[in-house]
Amino acid sequence: MPDLIRTGIGFDSHRFAEGRDLILGGVRIEHVAGLDGHSDADVLCHAISDALLGAVAEGDIGTHFPDTDPAWKDADSILLLRACAELVRSTDADIHNVDATVMAEAPKLAPHIRDICDSLAAALDLPADRVSVKATTLEQMGSLGRGEGIGVLAIATVSQKVAE
Ligand code: MG
Repeated sequence: MPDLIRTGIGFDSHRFAEGRDLILGGVRIEHVAGLDGHSDADVLCHAISDALLGAVAEGDIGTHFPDTDPAWKDADSILLLRACAELVRSTDADIHNVDATVMAEAPKLAPHIRDICDSLAAALDLPADRVSVKATTLEQMGSLGRGEGIGVLAIATVSQKVAE
């Protein structure tokens, strides 16, 4: 059977909330606030999950893990990401790589990028060099630029066996 190369895109954003831990890519990062959400609000895991599901046209993270379901309250999103990767593979697809850009005025993510990539690679069962995470600021423009929250844009590429 031939392979079909498919890509998916994901976007997510969460606002900051005091009194919560900041979790990005399954890594806890020291900051004055965490992100608000039904789960652990790991915006990076959510965006990559949506990119993976998008690559195989399997809806989005809300389809599979609805935030109205108490089972996912304070859920560990790195486990949801792992479940999404398994779902992708169950459609006869191999995950090639994921790439993400985190948009945040603060905190500075450079010191944490290696840990975050390692954490994501472990969850996705991929070599570390197939996982890329970058960070940028919004130059103080708009809500993310005012530091009201964090946004993430992600892309995933898979190859899927298809019938001839
Ligand atoms: Mg989310």
